[in-house]
Amino acid sequence: MNNAPTYNERTTRALLNELTTNGGCTLQHDGVRARDGYAVGLGGAEALDPKRPYFVQVLRIVDRARKANAGTAFGAWHDSATGLDYVEPVEVLSCRLAATQVARVRGELAIFDLANNAEIRLQNPVTCGQCGHGFSHADALEQITCPACGFTSEPCDFPDAR
Ligand SMILES: [Zn+2]
Repeated sequence: MNNAPTYNERTTRALLNELTTNGGCTLQHDGVRARDGYAVGLGGAEALDPKRPYFVQVLRIVDRARKANAGTAFGAWHDSATGLDYVEPVEVLSCRLAATQVARVRGELAIFDLANNAEIRLQNPVTCGQCGHGFSHADALEQITCPACGFTSEPCDFPDAR
């Protein structure tokens, strides 16, 4: 009888190890850590259900992504705000500008700089110059529209909320 773990099972185990010991990581499909470039999520990251076994959930994500040829790596991370863990297929791009542009199109909130082990946020919190409503927008826009009052103007009319 052959009980050796499959390729996807080994990658799943590596992801879970990193998640428990380091709080997150980006691993290539072969389970090896990605060390260079910018990781961009493919969109629609779902939290793992803490009431069900992680292994089964992560293996399903790995199986599905590899079958669909989705991305080249997996991002795993712990969100301290919600206390939930995430595993998401990602692609790794070498160019930061290309990575941010692709991420914006997908509505991602951030990309991850692998060489510097640092998150790069893509949204800026601002306040509306007209009604004072606070919201976030993608940076480098020529015009911003307030979702509360509809006021549309240049970014200088929306002071940073920091
Ligand atoms: Zn407004």
